[in-house]
Amino acid sequence: MTKTEISEIKALLSSPKSIVIVPHKNPDGDAIGSSLGLYHYLLQYKHNITIIAPNDYPSFLKWMPSENKILHYDTNKDKADILIHNADLIFTLDFNALFRTGDMEDVLNTSNGLKIMIDHHQQPADYAKYMYSDVSMSSTCEMVYNFIEFLGDSEQINSAIASCLYTGIMTDTGSFRFPSTTSRTHRVIANLIDKGAHNSEIHNAIYDTNRYERLQLLGTALSNMKVLPEYNTAYISLTQQELDTFNFQKGDTEGVVNYALSLKGIVFAAIFIESSQESIIKISLRSKGDFSVNEFSRAHFNGGGHTNAAGGKSELTLTKTIEKFISILPDYKNALTP
Ligand code: 5GP
Ligand code: MN
Repeated sequence: MTKTEISEIKALLSSPKSIVIVPHKNPDGDAIGSSLGLYHYLLQYKHNITIIAPNDYPSFLKWMPSENKILHYDTNKDKADILIHNADLIFTLDFNALFRTGDMEDVLNTSNGLKIMIDHHQQPADYAKYMYSDVSMSSTCEMVYNFIEFLGDSEQINSAIASCLYTGIMTDTGSFRFPSTTSRTHRVIANLIDKGAHNSEIHNAIYDTNRYERLQLLGTALSNMKVLPEYNTAYISLTQQELDTFNFQKGDTEGVVNYALSLKGIVFAAIFIESSQESIIKISLRSKGDFSVNEFSRAHFNGGGHTNAAGGKSELTLTKTIEKFISILPDYKNALTP
C-alpha cells in the first residue's frame, strides 16, 4: 500500500463507520483468524462492525474470541444483505475475487460500500478501492498485522487480536514450515506471543481436539491413497459414503492431502472428495518446489490459489475426475520430474 492510501484509510477510520468484514466461502483458519483479528482491532475505534462469513467453518476454530458474533450468510441472508447494503466500508479478507464468497457475490458487487482487499492469493481481481495484495505473504493474518502496523497502531494489538492472527499464520504456514514462512513471519509470531497469544494452547485447540471418527476417516483416506511414481504424484479419494460412515463434519478432511505430500520424493499431491450435496468433487492440490498447482487448477479444475496450495472442483463423477487427473499428468511430466 502506498503512503497516500494508508493516510486515506486512516482518515476514513478516524470517525465511526459501519463496517462489514467478509472472509471467503468455507473459511479456514486464516480467513476466520484475519477477520476476527481485524474485528478486534477496529472495535477499539467504536465502529459498528459485523463479520459476515458465507457459510459455516470447522468447529476447531470455534474457540476464537468473539467467534460467536460472526453472522453466517447462508442462514441469515436478509439481515446480512441489509448490513452489506448499508456498509460504509467492506473489508474482503483472504480471497482474490468476489465469486469466492459464493452466494454473497451479487450483494457485494452492488453495495456502494468502499472495498478494501487484504489478500495473498494469485491473480487478484480488480474490485476494491484499496488493494493490499501480496502473494509472497505467508497468510492474510500476517498482512493484517502489517496493516495495523502501517496505520501506526502496533501498540493497539491486544491478546484477542494476537490470538486470532497467530492462529491464521500457524494454519496457513503448516505450523511455520511452508516456504512462505520468512524470518519476518517468525518475528511477527514472536511479537504476537509477547502481546498475549498463548502459542501452545492455540496449537492444542486447533490440532488436538479431534473426534475419534475423524481419525477413522483419516485412516480410510490413507488406505485409499495411490502413488504414481513416474510423476512423483500421489492422490487420495473419499466417497460420500465413506464420509457418511464416519459422520463427516466440516473440517474433518482439512490437512489430509498433506499426508500424500509427505511421501518421500512426492512433489504433487491431490485429494478428491465427493460432495453429493453440491454435486461436485472438491479438489485440494498441494506441491513442493516450482510446480504450480495454482496454474494446474486454473487450467483443468476451475480453481486456483497459490503455487504450492490450491483448490478446485469437478462436475464429473469421482471416478471420471480421477481418470481426467491421471490423463493430464503426462503433459506435466517434465515439470514433475526434478
Ligand atoms: P484448499 O485446498 O485448502 O481448499 O485451498 C488451498 C488454497 O487455495 C487456499 O489458500 C484457498 O483459499 C485457495 N483456493 C481454494 N479454491 C480456490 C479457488 O477456486 N480460487 C482461488 N483463487 N483460490 C482457491
Ligand atoms: Mn490464507
